[in-house]
Amino acid sequence: MPPVNMQEIDLAKLPRGVKQTGWLDVAPRPDGSTWRLPFLYVTGAEQGPCLAVTAGVHGDEYEGMEAIPNVYLETEPQTLKGTLFMIPVCNVPAFETITRSSPIDGLNLARTFPGDGAGSITERIAHLIATQVLPEADFFIDLHSGGMALDVATLVGYIQDGAAYGAKSLAGAQAFGAPVLWGHPGPIPPGRTLSSAVELDVPCIYTEAAGGGLARPADVACFTRGVINVMKWLGMREGDPQPSTISHHLFGHADYDHPILSQSAGYYKPAVALLDDVQENQTLGITHDLFGEVIDEVRAPTDGVVVALRRLHRVRVGDGIALITRHHTG
Ligand SMILES: [Zn+2]
Repeated sequence: MPPVNMQEIDLAKLPRGVKQTGWLDVAPRPDGSTWRLPFLYVTGAEQGPCLAVTAGVHGDEYEGMEAIPNVYLETEPQTLKGTLFMIPVCNVPAFETITRSSPIDGLNLARTFPGDGAGSITERIAHLIATQVLPEADFFIDLHSGGMALDVATLVGYIQDGAAYGAKSLAGAQAFGAPVLWGHPGPIPPGRTLSSAVELDVPCIYTEAAGGGLARPADVACFTRGVINVMKWLGMREGDPQPSTISHHLFGHADYDHPILSQSAGYYKPAVALLDDVQENQTLGITHDLFGEVIDEVRAPTDGVVVALRRLHRVRVGDGIALITRHHTG
């Protein structure tokens, strides 16, 4: 069926037994056209759980954008119980400009939830997802990656918490199956897709991957298989999840807002690789000037595991260099 255009959507009232793509209106543009979110959904003839999946919350993260149409292609109403609803690009303005945040209001959509239906474009996108998509979901997956600036280990993150949603978040992450499993202590700081989901009591997970303006086939395959695995775990599809082998189980805050920062400007060269174990004070990388003279060494503030690294060699004062977390000890 050709894409449809909708002013709003009610996931509880979608027609049963169909596959549908379409556009969801967000806000008018000055040229008379409309900012719209793309969506793809499949409803089984049989009722069942509702799984919501988003990608492109940051406009320069491509793996999830590629995985979502793959999942759509591999999902048929005849063999589905419940509803699969997916948005492959949430921050459409940032997708257009190949940026993490919106070029229009400068906001990071992943810090804007639950948004404002009468606010700026990013606030309206957050509001739409928080009010029309998340409330009906029984489980939620937000697909991220390192984007242009960062290189992140291919991972699935869950919320480690004693509450029921914590147990479901862990089980969903294990079913998704990525080489790295990363537990985060609750509560999740506000503004995120995941914090909005938690407020609505919707168990949730998120992913990371290499990014870099690319979508590596292995990461796209991991995300595609991961969403399908979660559908199997939820009983929406026949069969058992087939998660990849876990190489690392990590624990700590996913503090992408407070990575280790560069104290100098110049040309940066990392001295460690993703998932390296590092010791406190170990050199993570060096910054040299444009004549090759070393002007700074960036050192690890603690022992831990390198989970994200700066990808871009040009570095300014205050740019993020690395993110270090710990092994899970539980
Ligand atoms: Zn992201």
